[in-house]
Amino acid sequence: MEPQEALRRLIAATPGFMPEDEGMALYNLARRSRPSASEPIVEVGSYCGKSTLYLAAAAQPERATVLSIDHHKGSEENYPPFPYTDHKLVEPYSAQINTLLPFQQTIRLAGFEDTVVALVGASSTIAAAVTVTSSLLFIDGGHGALPAWIDYDGWVSSVKYGGILAIHDVFADPRDGGQVPYGLFLAALHSGEFELVLEVGSLRGLLRKNR
Ligand code: SAH
Ligand code: MG
Repeated sequence: MEPQEALRRLIAATPGFMPEDEGMALYNLARRSRPSASEPIVEVGSYCGKSTLYLAAAAQPERATVLSIDHHKGSEENYPPFPYTDHKLVEPYSAQINTLLPFQQTIRLAGFEDTVVALVGASSTIAAAVTVTSSLLFIDGGHGALPAWIDYDGWVSSVKYGGILAIHDVFADPRDGGQVPYGLFLAALHSGEFELVLEVGSLRGLLRKNR
């Protein structure tokens, strides 16, 4: 079942960085990955839950789980001198972004509190402490070289055989955007472990080959 009208409206109203065509492609990848309660979808980079809603819409009919990881402090690209800061998300006293409350509100409004589990902390800390087999891994955290490669190294081996690795903000041409996610995408492709199955906008879907 595709996301219903009410859910689509909530997705449209949720702040974030997921165009509808890419979100629907992510939803279809998540369906294809056959998530379950014991082989959840893992998302790195929750922000306010926009992409999470697409993933949860795919997980819910399977009674599967989405683990969504974020320290909820925003990425370096959410702070000056980068152009994009959403001032509604800045805490009044700390001048820091805090997306945890908006994320929780998004999930509650969608009725996905039983489906989505927020893991709040640095991606590398959680990766070091938690071992999980994921049906689909969605990498959309910090796009600087260090955080992105830490996400890749920390999480990519979680993807089950026959599962999906999805990477966002992949731009082959530097005029379109930063090159770090593209580097992750190339590494996955060149590892021989993955085969490209989807390209929509800046979203890439890679199938982990069976052994
Ligand atoms: N998927 C979201 C957008 C994510 S923006 C959407 O579709 O709208 C990237 C997010 O990654 C930010 O919320 C930021 O807080 C988080 N992030 C960046 N570096 C991180 C790190 N090292 N550990 C955990 N979260 C991180
Ligand atoms: Mg993104």
